[in-house]
Amino acid sequence: MFETLLVNFLFLLLPVVIFLIFFENKQYTYNKIILILLSSVTMFLCMTIPIRLDIGFIFDLRYIPFIVVALFGGYKNAFPLYLVLNIYRFYLGGEGTIQSFLFSTVIFIIVPLLSKKFSQLQSKNRIFFATFVSFFTMGFYLFILSTFFDSLTREFWILTINALTTHVGMMLIIMTLIERIIINIKNRERFFHTERLSVIGELSASVSHEIRNPLTVTNGFLQLLKSSKNLSQDEKRYVEFALQELIRAEKIVSDYLTLAKPQSKNMIYSNLEVETEYTKDLITPFANMHQVNVQYCFNNSLKINYDKNQIQQCMINLYKNAIEAMKEKGGGTLLIDISEQKQNILIKIQDTGIGMTKEEVLRLGKPYYSTKEKGTGLGMLMVYSTIDKLKGKVEVQSVKGKGTTFMITIPV
Ligand code: ADP
Ligand code: MG
Repeated sequence: MFETLLVNFLFLLLPVVIFLIFFENKQYTYNKIILILLSSVTMFLCMTIPIRLDIGFIFDLRYIPFIVVALFGGYKNAFPLYLVLNIYRFYLGGEGTIQSFLFSTVIFIIVPLLSKKFSQLQSKNRIFFATFVSFFTMGFYLFILSTFFDSLTREFWILTINALTTHVGMMLIIMTLIERIIINIKNRERFFHTERLSVIGELSASVSHEIRNPLTVTNGFLQLLKSSKNLSQDEKRYVEFALQELIRAEKIVSDYLTLAKPQSKNMIYSNLEVETEYTKDLITPFANMHQVNVQYCFNNSLKINYDKNQIQQCMINLYKNAIEAMKEKGGGTLLIDISEQKQNILIKIQDTGIGMTKEEVLRLGKPYYSTKEKGTGLGMLMVYSTIDKLKGKVEVQSVKGKGTTFMITIPV
C-alpha cells in the first residue's frame, strides 16, 4: 500500500513540477490549458493506479487535482476535468459507475461555487480552505458509501481513516507547494519592478536637471528670434516648429523629474483631500470637452506623509489616461472614489473607456510603453513609482472594450 501511495504522490507532483520547470517563467496565454491538461493526466493516472488497502477496499486521489483546479479556476476550467473523469470512469465501467457520475456531478456543482471566495483569501488560508474542501468531499463520499452497508464494519472505519488522512495530507502538501510557487513568482515580479523604478529614479533625477537648463535657454533665444522682424514667413514657421518640439522635450523632462525622489519642501502630512480635489477640478474641463462625466467621492480621514506635487501629477496621469480611453469611445463616466478601510487609504479610479487586454495590463508602467500617437509612455511609470514610494500597491482590472479600474491601496 505504501508503494502505491508514493506513486500517487508522484502523480500529484507531476503537474506542479512540470509547470515549475518549463512554463512558470513565461506568460503564455495557454499556461492555463497546459495546467488543465497536466491535471487531467494526473487524474487519469490516479484512477488507473488506485490505492489498495489490505482489507480489500480501494480508493483513489482523483478529487485532489479536480478540487485544486475547481477552486483556482472555477467552472470553466473544472469542466474539462469533469469530462475526463466521467468518460474514463464510464470506460472503466463496473460497479458504482452511475454513483460515481452522480457524486462527481454534485462536487462539480458545489466546489467551483467556492472559487470566488477562495481567490480572495490569503495564501495560507487558501491552503487550509482547499484541505477542508478535500476533507469534506471525501467525508461526503464515505458517508454515501456507508449507506450501502447494513452495518459499519471495522474495515469500513479503517478505509475511512486511511482515505481521509491521505486526502488531507496530500492536499496540504500539494497546496503548500502551489502557494509557494505563486509567492515566488509574485516576489520576483515585485523585485524586478522596484529595481526598474529605482534605476530610473536615480538616472532621471540627474539627467533631467542637467537638460532642463539648456532647454530653457534655447527656448528663450528662440522666442527672441520669433519676434525678430527680418524673418521670412517660412523661417518663422521653422522657429515655431522648433519651439513646439522644445515644449514637448520639456514635458518629457518634467515627467522624468517627478520620477525622482520626493522633495522635502513639498512634503506634507495630510489626507489627500486637497490634492485629489484640486486635480479633479483641473481635469474637469478636459473631461467635459470629451463628453466625460466626472463623479467624485471623498471619504477619508487617514493621514500620511507625501510629496504633494507627485501625488497631484500621479492623479492627473490616471485621470488623463481614463479620459483619453473614453475619448475614443465618444464619452463615458470617470468615477473617482477615495475611501478608507482599516489602516489603508483606497483610491479607486474607474473609467468606461476602451479597456485593455491582459497582456496590455502587464505592460503598463514599462517605460515608453504607449499605444497613443503622441503618448510618452511615462505616465503610468510615474504612477507606479509614486505609489511605490508610499509603500502602496496598484491593482488593475480591465476588460477590453468595457473599461478599466485602478485600485490603489496605501498603508498608513
Ligand atoms: P501615455 O498616456 O503617454 O500613452 P501612460 O504610461 O500614461 O502613457 O499609459 C501607457 C498606456 O497604457 C497607454 O498608451 C494606454 O494604452 C494604456 N492605458 C493607460 N491607462 C489606461 C486606461 N485607463 N484605459 C485604457 N488604456 C490605458
Ligand atoms: Mg498617460
